[in-house]
Amino acid sequence: MEQKIKAYDNILELVGNTPLVRLNRITKGFTGNFFAKVESFNPGHSSKDRIAMHIIEEAEQKGILSPGSTIIETTSGNTGFSIAMVSIIKGYKCILAVSSKSSRDKIDMLRSMGATVYVCPAHVSADDPRSYYEVAKRLHQETKGSIYINQYFNELNIEAHYASTGPEIWEQTGGQITHLVACSGTGGTISGTARYLKEQNPKIKVIGVDAYGSVLKKYHETGEFDSKEIYPYRIEGLGKNLIPAATDFTVIDEFIKVTDSESAHTAREIARTEGIFAGYTSGAVMQALKQLNETGEFKPGDNVVVIFPDHGSRYMSKVYSDQWMEDQGFFDTETVEETQKIQY
Ligand code: PMP
Repeated sequence: MEQKIKAYDNILELVGNTPLVRLNRITKGFTGNFFAKVESFNPGHSSKDRIAMHIIEEAEQKGILSPGSTIIETTSGNTGFSIAMVSIIKGYKCILAVSSKSSRDKIDMLRSMGATVYVCPAHVSADDPRSYYEVAKRLHQETKGSIYINQYFNELNIEAHYASTGPEIWEQTGGQITHLVACSGTGGTISGTARYLKEQNPKIKVIGVDAYGSVLKKYHETGEFDSKEIYPYRIEGLGKNLIPAATDFTVIDEFIKVTDSESAHTAREIARTEGIFAGYTSGAVMQALKQLNETGEFKPGDNVVVIFPDHGSRYMSKVYSDQWMEDQGFFDTETVEETQKIQY
């Protein structure tokens, strides 16, 4: 009898359908049930594979992209990696403008995936000609036959998660999810997922995680853009110094802020307690969960889903480096035990 070959046609067929994993130890003593949607199971190791696929395939269907076209984007790294991966399989050129805040590992990885990378200063305003937004816009104008993904202002970013992350979580929880807690950067993940989930059950509470130094929480509460909220912070991919159009503030019930230091320690704690090697913003979302639990947000029987956006291997020279933690002043010997350091 002829044996069937069980293989995927290419790596892109593995995008999406990531697992939902119960959090058992880091949530010890918490009220409720907690589950993480582990997005590092995507082939590009982050949730951004979903938007890269969705936006590029939409452009193909509309006839905007043709073989040899160039795809341009601004990215803290993950979206760039996903676009580079999709570009390889589909035969496009990939140009990325990234922030100098992005880790060396991420930039090297993008170049390894065939992308051309421009590194732009992190601490300039969004409308500064040196900012990665302005650099990407200029490259788009100068490169014939190019498309600019523009994830911060692209409604398709929301749609990608509405079409995949939301339905997956609804199905994986058997419709019993009570809370969604997720990071907000472009806002695509939380907005698309929440929009789908609230259509199924409007009672589901959605909490966005924001960084100190970002404008999102204040904007959600007051409707005003307050530039006094802006100052440099370390977490990559969380919070913003502008109001992204890819954030649907109407489906987010509240925002909670987390610190650089606590998020970093909590990322390390996830690895040590759950055996899930996750990125810096997974630490941020888990830190938010701790704060919410402390303020009595959850009831017994609640089913809380958090999204872990990417993989820890992208932060070896940052969160998972004792030297980096030390350099940031995150090892305050008064409060942090020696055992929290990585032992060699
Ligand atoms: N975590 C990481 C590591 C990211 O790169 C991003 C995207 N910038 C996010 C969280 C936030 O996701 P979103 O852009 O969909 O809000």
